[in-house]
Amino acid sequence: MQAGKLAAIGQMSTSIAHELNQPLAALRTLSGNTVRFLERGALDTASANLKTINELIDRMGRITASLRSFARRGDDLGQASLGKAVDAALQLLGSRLESSELQLHRDFSDVQVQIDQTRLEQILVNLIGNALDAMQAQPQPELWLEGETVDGKYRLRVRDNGHGIDAETRKHLFEPFFTTKPGEQGLGLGLTLSASLAAATGGNLGVEHPASGGTAFVLSLPLVSPLQAEPI
Ligand code: ADP
Repeated sequence: MQAGKLAAIGQMSTSIAHELNQPLAALRTLSGNTVRFLERGALDTASANLKTINELIDRMGRITASLRSFARRGDDLGQASLGKAVDAALQLLGSRLESSELQLHRDFSDVQVQIDQTRLEQILVNLIGNALDAMQAQPQPELWLEGETVDGKYRLRVRDNGHGIDAETRKHLFEPFFTTKPGEQGLGLGLTLSASLAAATGGNLGVEHPASGGTAFVLSLPLVSPLQAEPI
């Protein structure tokens, strides 16, 4: 087990170093050039470079902020209301939902599950956000949130009628920093982080590829037993 953990740390460190080295190299070139542009009085170009530098720094900040969520393991034992988490996630994605003609189907119960409330919201924002991205070119976007109880766990299926996932992409979905989104749009950490948060509480995150098209992510989380739910 120890050897497995060390191997995982090695793999993760390589990916992180790679992801941070790219913007660092770009920052080095850009700042060097900016000094020269300033010396020559080419203020417009210098200012454009500084804007790019800001964007790169923001991206590095987003990467380290996401990585911090992997490390925080203190609140693994919380309880969350599924209904509240879905509402909070939809509110967070509000502006994106308003600009689409999304038809939302809610077919789940407001159960209590064993996970920190904010973490559940974080997972749902990732899954629903990905679904919205996949449905961008879909003239009649539809999202299904379907729940069922299976063996003491609550299973929430987040299903979309987006472009689906091709065979090659399917192999890499849960790898850190894997993304098919262009430019600044994807960090490739959403699914890795969501799966890790679910696993930390004894749940899991899987994926299905419905024959009818689109994609379904299946989040399974331990239910809070009635005994635990009642104040003693
Ligand atoms: P990011 O969203 O930053 O790309 P994720 O880890 O959340 O990172 O997702 C990784 C990749 O998985 C996405 O770039 C996309 O190719 C694919 N993906 C995730 N969710 C969906 C979905 N609902 N439909 C189609 N592709 C998806």
